[in-house]
Amino acid sequence: MKLRKPALTTTAARSALMASVRQRGTGAELAVRQILRRLKIRFRSNVASLPGRPDVCATEAGVAIFVHGCFWHRHRGCKAASTPRTNTEFWTAKFDANMRRDRAKTRALRRRGLGVLVIWECQTRNLAKLKQLETKLEKVLKKVR
Ligand SMILES: [Zn+2]
Repeated sequence: MKLRKPALTTTAARSALMASVRQRGTGAELAVRQILRRLKIRFRSNVASLPGRPDVCATEAGVAIFVHGCFWHRHRGCKAASTPRTNTEFWTAKFDANMRRDRAKTRALRRRGLGVLVIWECQTRNLAKLKQLETKLEKVLKKVR
């Protein structure tokens, strides 16, 4: 599937596009931050000073957190991680590149002595899952300290 680029003939259209690109923080990411705040766990967001620019870093626990979309980052066994039936080669290559990049980021962070935690989008999908996630984060991030 070839994505058609929007025609950027006007300044308004161009700046609207730029604004959408700059926007950070998916719903899942916001949910994770909310949980961390509730647990009173200190964190920074989009930490550019760390390899791979983790979405969140629980600073005192020393744990970098990635909030991954299940589709793009291939959540194993997850319904959301299906492969489109057309242009399978294109998608497979794209997914492979994403996963390779993710592994490289994890390695680089671990070399820095940081823990790495991946939170999947589907873990934030409903209240019950969020509650589970909160319990997990509390256990993992408060114990490390
Ligand atoms: Zn998933």
